[in-house]
Amino acid sequence: MKKPKIEVIDKNGSFKVLMKNVPVEIANSIRRIILSEVRTLAIHDVFIFKNNSVLNDDTLAHRLGLIPLKTSRKKVKELLDSVDETDYVTIVLNVSARDKFMTVYSKHLKSKDKEVKPVSNDIVIAKLSPGQAIEAELWARVGSGSEHAKWSPVSVAVVRGLPKISLSKDIPADIAKNLVDICPKNVFILEDDKVKISDPLKCTLCMLCEKEYPEYVKVKIDESSSLLYIEPIGHLPIKDIFEDAFEILTEKLDHFIKMLTEVEIDVT
Ligand code: SF4
Repeated sequence: MKKPKIEVIDKNGSFKVLMKNVPVEIANSIRRIILSEVRTLAIHDVFIFKNNSVLNDDTLAHRLGLIPLKTSRKKVKELLDSVDETDYVTIVLNVSARDKFMTVYSKHLKSKDKEVKPVSNDIVIAKLSPGQAIEAELWARVGSGSEHAKWSPVSVAVVRGLPKISLSKDIPADIAKNLVDICPKNVFILEDDKVKISDPLKCTLCMLCEKEYPEYVKVKIDESSSLLYIEPIGHLPIKDIFEDAFEILTEKLDHFIKMLTEVEIDVT
């Protein structure tokens, strides 16, 4: 088996990740682990000392819990390996609207650890009227998406096989033009009246081209590699997400292999 390679090939909004020499079934395990098992940090305990805003304490705590926190895999591991009681990061929210209206944003959250902060400064938490204030201490803990979606490092993760398109050599000029027009993803281009494949990775395997011209075009799935689409929320750098996912998968496989070696077969 060839050595697997993970390569980000498109970063516009969502990430398109080419997983070379990673079959779809393994890529799907990675996808599921990314969604539900990769470990991140999220606010989990909220101690409210003062809150006379219109938001009740429960709603405020819920909102705070859903603010994604940016950190690194190193920090998450540090917290996981912590032997004392400090397996969390403290964040303080102390805001007060003295004599005018005030919007409380995620930028008002002050983390006691410089390696942990909200992924964006502009998430609205509450609106305060003059005289209103919030004083709270928040504890961010390590968790994973299987416990609550707030820990999931991605909002979307989709996997599919790699398209493999082949064109016959003798495509008439009128059909070549139709092929270019028929493809909704502009996979084909015309060059000197000949149809060429511009970017096979744009293909969504809709099969319109093959259905219309089965004698000239064949679309298959290359089962040795995969494409993964993910939309990271910002908890972890993308490299950290993959490193953690592969480490978790490796641990699971080690456990599975150990179980296989210990199987007792009694079929007499
Ligand atoms: S399968 Fe669909 S997306 Fe892919 S090349 Fe054919 S028409 Fe285009």
